[in-house]
Amino acid sequence: MKILIAEDEPALRQNLQWLLEMEGYDVLVASDGNEALALARQNTPDLLITDVMMPHLDGFGLVQAMRTDMQLCTTPIIMLSAKADRSDIRAGMNVGADDYLTKPYQREELLTTLQSRLARSASLRLAQAHLHSAAAAGGGLDALTALPLKEAFEAQMAQVLQRSRENGRGCAVVCVGLHGFAKINESLGRPAGDTVLRETAQRLCALVQQLPFTHPPEHGFVGRLSGDLFLVCLADLEPDALIQRVQAILAAVTQPLEVNGQNLFLSACAGASEHQDSEIQHATLVGQAEAALYHAKPRGPGSWQLFDAAQSQQVVRRLRLNNALHRALDQGELRLFYQPQIRISDGALVGFEALLRWQHPELGWVSPGEFIPVAEESDVIIPIGEWVLRTAAAQAAQWVRSQGRDDFHVAVNLSVRQFAREDLPSLVRTVLHDTGLPPHVLELEVTESIALHSVTSTLGLMQGCKALGVQLSMDDFGTGYSSLSYLKRYPLDALKIDQGFVRNIPGDAGDVAITRAIIAMAHSFGMHVIAEGVEHREQLELLRQLGCEQFQGYLCSRPVPAPEAERFFAGYRPERASLA
Ligand code: C2E
Ligand code: MG
Ligand code: MG
Repeated sequence: MKILIAEDEPALRQNLQWLLEMEGYDVLVASDGNEALALARQNTPDLLITDVMMPHLDGFGLVQAMRTDMQLCTTPIIMLSAKADRSDIRAGMNVGADDYLTKPYQREELLTTLQSRLARSASLRLAQAHLHSAAAAGGGLDALTALPLKEAFEAQMAQVLQRSRENGRGCAVVCVGLHGFAKINESLGRPAGDTVLRETAQRLCALVQQLPFTHPPEHGFVGRLSGDLFLVCLADLEPDALIQRVQAILAAVTQPLEVNGQNLFLSACAGASEHQDSEIQHATLVGQAEAALYHAKPRGPGSWQLFDAAQSQQVVRRLRLNNALHRALDQGELRLFYQPQIRISDGALVGFEALLRWQHPELGWVSPGEFIPVAEESDVIIPIGEWVLRTAAAQAAQWVRSQGRDDFHVAVNLSVRQFAREDLPSLVRTVLHDTGLPPHVLELEVTESIALHSVTSTLGLMQGCKALGVQLSMDDFGTGYSSLSYLKRYPLDALKIDQGFVRNIPGDAGDVAITRAIIAMAHSFGMHVIAEGVEHREQLELLRQLGCEQFQGYLCSRPVPAPEAERFFAGYRPERASLA
């Protein structure tokens, strides 16, 4: 058994060392808190006896540092001090000491305390090893943070709930989401992101004084739900204490954090669900806390929300979609449909827009208008976007070969999240290379929301893509954060007039005026214009008069599977009923 002694008084230190060595312990000694911390990290002692007043780092600081260190947070600690006030003892216990003895110490008292702490720690370790292997066998531990993942968390929750029912005390689950974590990963790299997650995990553990895998958890415990989402179970909750606890959680995770010598200021939101009715299931609490988080998020950084059943239905669906989306790609539930784009002057085909379709096994067809925003909230938009790009490019390349022509394009919608990635041009280059698609046959559609990102980086990415020879268009123009000054600077080939304007022409004079203005402006910047959502002849006629070059819409065709889309290579002739 290895005992570490931290004591600045040489005679006392020596004395303690002899006493313990005579009892057969291995003893390490340090003369201040910093030295002790370094020794502890190197040697992982079985127990620490520490003085309170020491130079450099005092006993309180030492205990605190150990309690937030994943490796050392379960080491038993006995504080030994001449300060014998109740408040001193309380302070020692509050920072996480297991016991507090006063000087001059009694030999017997010290030895019994030491033995009982060591015995408790041994049984703790046993339980820990047991749970650890159970969790690892069930795949229940997160490799990065060593926290229980959802299933293991819920299993522990079951016990906490049981205890709450028995002792009539409250308990709650808090789901914490970091804001802007994806940006940290993208701008500083994954290792930095990992550091942020590990540090967040440690802060949360420190807050609930989690002894990893103690059984059953005393004050609560922490888990990792996914990506940047953490779970905190608050056990033995006093009535009305939840608000303060959630605020403490948010305060802890938003303390500045140093990564690679850079100070990061994180923000976070939380959702909470409190155990009230005795029938509630542990998994329900977790789901409700997560649902509440999705309600808090739109209110911005720092906000939190208690679960409210009435709000939850829509959120539950979003959650369900979010979970299912992670599998949709692997299970082949996603498909691309193609909507023809037609030149207004002569009905010739100019290209297709690739549009995602998702057939969920239980929910049926889910519209991209619903699931793309959900995908954009998590990292799943990245692999989905990449799949869309590859699939559409492969289809286009196949058409180039089978039709023997390359005077058309296939347009792919890019999410703003994809666009914010520095590696976008290299992804596009790889896809072009892998599929053998001539670059000018690929068109990338971006939306006005990219203007929210830094203009310089957006411009750089656009120019990077243009340099490869692909075409760029601005989708849904007129609905977003329009700024005419950026339009002039972006290397765009085309503007797409949003269907919101097209819908009401020619009847609505205001929308006619807007459509006319958009067309004139695009032309003055050297771009051509494509109108979306054209359903009626009258709309098409007016667009022709206003000088709009191209259109897409149900008037010609809905988005259809690739084999059906192929027939539009013959062009669009409105008089032919079969195509209209
Ligand atoms: P969008 O890019 O503006 O696509 C046009 C939408 O209008 C499509 O809806 C299309 O089916 C629909 N539409 C076409 N013609 C007509 C018409 O005549 N009348 C009416 N009422 N609607 C018409 P869809 O396919 O449901 O897609 C909705 C949105 O989802 C798209 O808007 C786009 O923002 C997003 N989206 C679709 N596929 C992808 C994708 O692969 N990646 C990304 N990032 N977003 C996608
Ligand atoms: Mg589009
Ligand atoms: Mg559009």
